[in-house]
Amino acid sequence: MSSTIYTKLDELTLAKIGDIKPVWSRELPTAPSSVTVIKDCANRYFLSFVVEIESSIVEPLNQSVGIDLGLKTFAVLSTGEKFGSPNYSKHDKKIRKLQRKLARQKEGSRRRYRTRLKIAKLHNQISDTRKDFLHKLSTKVVSENQAITLEDLNVSGMVKNKKLARAISRAGWREFRMLCEAKSDKFGRTFSTLSRWEPTSQVCSRCGYKWGKLELHIRTITCLNCATTHDRDENAAKNIDQVGMGNRHDSKWTQRGRKTTEGSRPQ
Ligand SMILES: [Zn+2]
Repeated sequence: MSSTIYTKLDELTLAKIGDIKPVWSRELPTAPSSVTVIKDCANRYFLSFVVEIESSIVEPLNQSVGIDLGLKTFAVLSTGEKFGSPNYSKHDKKIRKLQRKLARQKEGSRRRYRTRLKIAKLHNQISDTRKDFLHKLSTKVVSENQAITLEDLNVSGMVKNKKLARAISRAGWREFRMLCEAKSDKFGRTFSTLSRWEPTSQVCSRCGYKWGKLELHIRTITCLNCATTHDRDENAAKNIDQVGMGNRHDSKWTQRGRKTTEGSRPQ
């Protein structure tokens, strides 16, 4: 049935529409069984294919990983790897400029319509970049590790700060968590989250010494007990991994395979 969809390598024949030359976002792994045409609010057309693939379970490289999510650096892994969010500031600037323009334009005018379309396209670009980033990172994390522990961020509590709200929604923590959870299911991995009340930045990941609360600007710390110098986020990620794997006495705070209620506090 798939052969009737393809005519040439890069061309496509659609019933009632005819031949089209799409811009391929990726190669199809196998011949598709069906295709759906989608139009978005920025007047872009998308083709969505249904393909069947054999799921191949990849052997993980590591037993486990802890992930610390943040604003400055999107994710820091207990392996020491850091992943920054894509930079959207150029898009942001353009959007704000266009929105000011839009406010001056006459309602119902062609120009206003065009401006609105430009804004929608920029928003789409941001969302595409974000989705791509989150997909790639979650696939990497889940395929490389047998157990994944993520710090559960109380987004609703933090969104009260309006300046932060924008950055948080951009950062896509929630989306990342959902992707990791879904992919863990698919790959047969163990996924768990930690309560955000877990003091992951207050304890030495090497010896367990508790140094207490750290000011946000402190990025590295040397443990008074074992003299190890830690990167703040990496130390947190290592603690997240250890608590997630039950190697810490405070592992009662892990919520394995269960959704955390927002704002809930451990006793
Ligand atoms: Zn220590």
